Amino acid sequence: MAKENRCSFCGRGQNEVNILITGIDAFICGDCTHKASDIVAETERLAPPQKKYKIFKKDIPAPKEIKKFLDQYVIGQDDAKRYLSVLVYNHYKRLSQSTADEVEIEKSNIIMVGATGTGKTLLAKTIARLLKVPFAIVDATVLTEAGYVGEDIESILTRLLQVADYDVNRAECGIVFIDEIDKIARKSDNPSITRDVSGEGVQQGLLKLLEGSVVNVPPQGGRKHPEQKLVAVDTKNILFICGGAFDGIEKRISQRMNMQVVGYTAIQKTAHIDRTNLLQYIQPQDLKSFGLIPEIIGRLPILTYLNPLDRETLRKILSEPKNSIIKQYKKSFEMDGIALTIDDDVLDYIVDKAIEYRLGARGLRSIAEDIMIDAMYEYPSSKDKSLHIDMDYARTKLEKSRSSFLAAG
Ligand code: ADP
Repeated sequence: MAKENRCSFCGRGQNEVNILITGIDAFICGDCTHKASDIVAETERLAPPQKKYKIFKKDIPAPKEIKKFLDQYVIGQDDAKRYLSVLVYNHYKRLSQSTADEVEIEKSNIIMVGATGTGKTLLAKTIARLLKVPFAIVDATVLTEAGYVGEDIESILTRLLQVADYDVNRAECGIVFIDEIDKIARKSDNPSITRDVSGEGVQQGLLKLLEGSVVNVPPQGGRKHPEQKLVAVDTKNILFICGGAFDGIEKRISQRMNMQVVGYTAIQKTAHIDRTNLLQYIQPQDLKSFGLIPEIIGRLPILTYLNPLDRETLRKILSEPKNSIIKQYKKSFEMDGIALTIDDDVLDYIVDKAIEYRLGARGLRSIAEDIMIDAMYEYPSSKDKSLHIDMDYARTKLEKSRSSFLAAG
């Protein structure tokens, strides 16, 4: 007698079910199909399937294009821009590489050294505009060693996870900008004398992330606590861009350069040194003498610098970038139907004052704001449809605001 076909899941025979679907060497009945479908739906609801995030070679902008894009928003800083462009390009290339490739392109993280306000964060943010990978900016000053007040190292990745809408696959292809990396430099040359809470321990923790490993990230950030569910993130393909002012590092650069130069040819060499901008000569060993551990430096193989901003650069920053401060004011007034014009000597005046008050590029906005604030308050409810700012107007407004500031202070 022929054997009756049975559902391989519930065991019922062909005659006991309304439909029996035949597989290669198994059967499933209609009821079991419905149950299986419910189980799949419920599982997917609890943990949605994550699409493998894939980047294709054709989507990669060439380094020159990346630099051109940066040029629209950031004035000068060519060295840093070139390094960043190549780095980002290679990052994309690595992500588009097939896993079967024998030659695997290794990631190179980067460190940018430059005085505060010279455009490190702006460069990183501008790169983020261009990229289609998740991008997060974090501040190294909040990090402390596990067990101390402050945030755990892993919280660096929390921001990235948030930006990637908690899609771990996407986060694992992202870029993290770690600002103020110099703040976790070892404070003393002898780390064993006292516990260096924000120093070597934090650097060791950071090393783990830079090297590429699977780390458990608190999805809500802050410190880890037992009730919080952690998310495992592999940092192998995450690109780290670090930035820091490294105040006083010029002294170390100059000491090193003086030590290296002995003899007559050396004197000739030092004659060509531009002492007004020593950062351009920065070498990894200077970071070491500043207090970064060699392992961290090894994991940041690309080292670049930012130039100090001179008068000419500040003047350009004011009006040339695609979203320069002046263009922003014009746009803002235009939205109220008001045509704003500003005399060129007013722009020179703003730059002079930023230099005089030693405020750098950040000062440009605060000075411009002091000049514009009354007009921004009055004009939207006035009938005037044009506003012209000349030197007299600018000087009067700035002096008024500075004197009220001094009186208040
Ligand atoms: P850093 O991160 O180096 O301390 P930021 O990138 O935050 O400095 O710069 C502060 C502000 O100064 C920026 O928002 C930008 O308006 C302006 N700025 C600084 N450097 C440049 C530059 N090279 N080109 C255009 N704007 C700049």
